[in-house]
Amino acid sequence: MPNKVRAFLGLGSNIGDSRNWLRQAVEELPGVIAVSPLYRTEPVGGPDQDDYLNIVVAIETELSSRDLLLQCQRIELEAGRERLVKNGPRTLDIDILLYDNRQISEPGLEVPHPRMFQRNFVISPLLDIAPELAFDEAFTSRINPDELIGDVEEIGEL
Ligand code: AMP
Repeated sequence: MPNKVRAFLGLGSNIGDSRNWLRQAVEELPGVIAVSPLYRTEPVGGPDQDDYLNIVVAIETELSSRDLLLQCQRIELEAGRERLVKNGPRTLDIDILLYDNRQISEPGLEVPHPRMFQRNFVISPLLDIAPELAFDEAFTSRINPDELIGDVEEIGEL
């Protein structure tokens, strides 16, 4: 039996009943062990669009990083996810932020997620459920507080 790996996923939604899309995704994701508070966040990049709701989820899984990505994409598709505009509005987006402490650079899969370190809507909820990362040099060295973008507001539990 392969060992379980801890991974962190970033979820966001800004179309339809976003809270419900996020709740459904948490129901469907494998091995969820922690769910961050819910954040309302301003869109970063892309066209004019509504605010997002974001959470970060911790899971423990035996899935490979590739199979985990496929699972996340399946859940996105079930939520009616369309990819019409880059960085455009979406019913559900799921990113693999961290997978164990591994560096993965493959076609279609980059972990740690390359843009997470500039995004308040990832870093704030991630540190809520994994405060130990604040003492992890490999993690903190990639964050430049002056480059963190996107206003975020914690609005309670999912
Ligand atoms: P997005 O439209 O933001 O959901 O981006 C999806 C694309 O990013 C897909 O083609 C994925 O293969 C790719 N991708 C690369 N690294 C990751 C990651 N760590 N988590 C999720 N998607 C990723």
